[in-house]
Amino acid sequence: MATILTLLQKVNYLDEGGQRLIEKAYAKAEVNHRGVFRKSGEPFIQHPLKVALKLADLNMDAETIAAALLHDLHEDSGISLKELQNEFGSQIAEMVNGVSKLHRVKLGEEDPEAQTERQIEALRKMFVSMAKDLRVVLIKLADRWHNLETLFALPPKKQKEIALETLKIYAPLAYRLGMGEIKGILEDLAFPYAYPEEYEELKKMALPKYEVRKKYIEKVKKILADDLKEAKIEHEIHGRAKHMYSLYKKLKKYDYDMDKIYDLVALRVIVSEIHDCYAVLGLIHKRWKPLLGRIKDYIAIPKPNGYQSLHTTVFCQDGEIVEFQIRTKKMHEKAEYGVAAHWHYTEQTTPKEFKQGAIRTEKATLMSENELRWVKELTVWQKELKDSKDFFEALKLDLFKDRIFVFTPKGDVVDLPEGATPIDFAYYIHTDIGNSAFGAKVNGKMLSLSAELKNGDIVEILTAKNIKPSQDWLRIVKTAKARERIKSWLKKATEV
Ligand code: MN
Repeated sequence: MATILTLLQKVNYLDEGGQRLIEKAYAKAEVNHRGVFRKSGEPFIQHPLKVALKLADLNMDAETIAAALLHDLHEDSGISLKELQNEFGSQIAEMVNGVSKLHRVKLGEEDPEAQTERQIEALRKMFVSMAKDLRVVLIKLADRWHNLETLFALPPKKQKEIALETLKIYAPLAYRLGMGEIKGILEDLAFPYAYPEEYEELKKMALPKYEVRKKYIEKVKKILADDLKEAKIEHEIHGRAKHMYSLYKKLKKYDYDMDKIYDLVALRVIVSEIHDCYAVLGLIHKRWKPLLGRIKDYIAIPKPNGYQSLHTTVFCQDGEIVEFQIRTKKMHEKAEYGVAAHWHYTEQTTPKEFKQGAIRTEKATLMSENELRWVKELTVWQKELKDSKDFFEALKLDLFKDRIFVFTPKGDVVDLPEGATPIDFAYYIHTDIGNSAFGAKVNGKMLSLSAELKNGDIVEILTAKNIKPSQDWLRIVKTAKARERIKSWLKKATEV
């Protein structure tokens, strides 16, 4: 069992004040959770403590770790936000409030419609809290992480529900925040509960191959290390086993042919400078022939989530195919921990300045703004809604391909099924607006009422008093609500 001492040892990167804050938060949580046990049999305090430990592993700031310790007090122990604010300040109280709000997403019924609704609701709440304070979402991810670790204690129905929700929402979200390692961990924890049969099958298939591969990779590692040493390039090389769930997804694409998976164990070369990355790539290609079309320069052109690395796949020793990933230490940390890496850097690079908690938040946000386009757009979301089109494009709503999000001119989000029209939008806003709509301005341009709306569109409905809904609209609309309202208007009209 973890104790406060475990945590205090881990946060020795924080100053005295930060450590005292964490101790105080722990004391508050411990007293109020005392006598309460989780389904896993552990005392409840172990949960917030372990969530805090995960965030300490990411070198998060003191406020975040304190808020993590307090995160279930409001919801489960009825401690008021006022009380938390008085004792810990408004920033921490706000974070606890944010996490509690995310908790309150109701678990819906089993029908897919309700599930989708629930997920959209969960996501929307998360976007809003991310825009306010990204750290809330990091606490939420750590919270989910520990809940998955203790998922065995829950009834099967609940296990599956939480596991599927993780795969659909939390893992993609972690990915979008650039936290590749966290995404992989969440997926691998959820996988056996979400798809138990597929998981067992995969284990049987992959484990023997994986063992063979590991030995082979060790050989390759030595050869490359010698080359790098001779070239006087300081480096680290890690053999990296592919995460089970991402292997599963890839195998599905390749008809379950293990021989087509080149990165079952990939080699990661970590160097200190960018020019070393290219030098390493050159050395690898000098020794082994690259496969055409498999050289990727994500340093020059980063992935949308900020990921940077050089990738290449080569015909290696004995004709085996091996993938190499080459990156700097900084890129590596960002690839593993994404936005959380920012706090890490701020702590290490400018310790003095960051001793003052208030500056830290602002600066951390600033750093993400500079370095992670997506998060930047996220955090300014509510302020600059005119740019929301780009925001949603970057967001890649393939999380739910079947829904689109559009905006009112005031910036309220409206979610509609794919293919929805301005008429659907109008009825979503208000029946009277639907009934008197004659045209639509989409992103400032006039469009017909039957046009198909797209993600991120800003929609304004033009209305006039003498307008009437038309029978034709029934063929165009995509939402039940619009259809129902039009029908009822038509019915009334014929009655008169
Ligand atoms: Mn919790």
